[in-house]
Amino acid sequence: MELVFATGNKNKAKEAQEILLGKVPGLTVLSYSGPEPVEDGVSFLENALIKARAAHAATGKPAFADDSGIAVGILGGSPGIFSAIWSGTREDKTNCNLLLAQLKDIHPEHRAAAFICTIALVSRGSEMSFTGVWSGSVAPEAIGENGHGYDPVFIPEGFQLTSAQLEPEVKNTLSHRFLALTQMADYLAR
Ligand code: IMP
Repeated sequence: MELVFATGNKNKAKEAQEILLGKVPGLTVLSYSGPEPVEDGVSFLENALIKARAAHAATGKPAFADDSGIAVGILGGSPGIFSAIWSGTREDKTNCNLLLAQLKDIHPEHRAAAFICTIALVSRGSEMSFTGVWSGSVAPEAIGENGHGYDPVFIPEGFQLTSAQLEPEVKNTLSHRFLALTQMADYLAR
């Protein structure tokens, strides 16, 4: 079975290969970085579908794509689909600093947040989706060097460290992306 992964991100492609190949023997994950469609959806699901449909239409093969971000409860689920450009820039540090400033006076018990990842899988006549949620809270300050995006300001549930302080091997067995990929792998294996 061949599956096209619509992402230009090499780290994501590698992680997906490892998780999917472990569960679905004989699967080949092909990377695809053709023309990028406009992501004008209003949810993680809509944006993931836009990317997966475009890759399926361009290649004629079953294709999947993901969309992810951080959702903060007291901000009504924002930054959500706007996570990558929350501060008006794509700079991780600036985005984290804005989020910390917005929550400056908010008590720890009201700082609940989650990383969310939705994967859309599109093939001829079928569309499926898989969502992984990694719950936690927004830290009082940015700490840690690993990862990317909001990892320095996200404390996963059950930890007293940010996800940027976790070893990548640990994060990759807990994260929203891992949970969504695992659901898709289980579906494909069935
Ligand atoms: P995308 O789905 O890769 O485009 O992710 C959108 C944005 O969500 C990223 O630019 C990050 O700001 C944030 N994000 C998604 N996943 C993670 C993660 O695992 N750690 C930190 N930030 C993340």
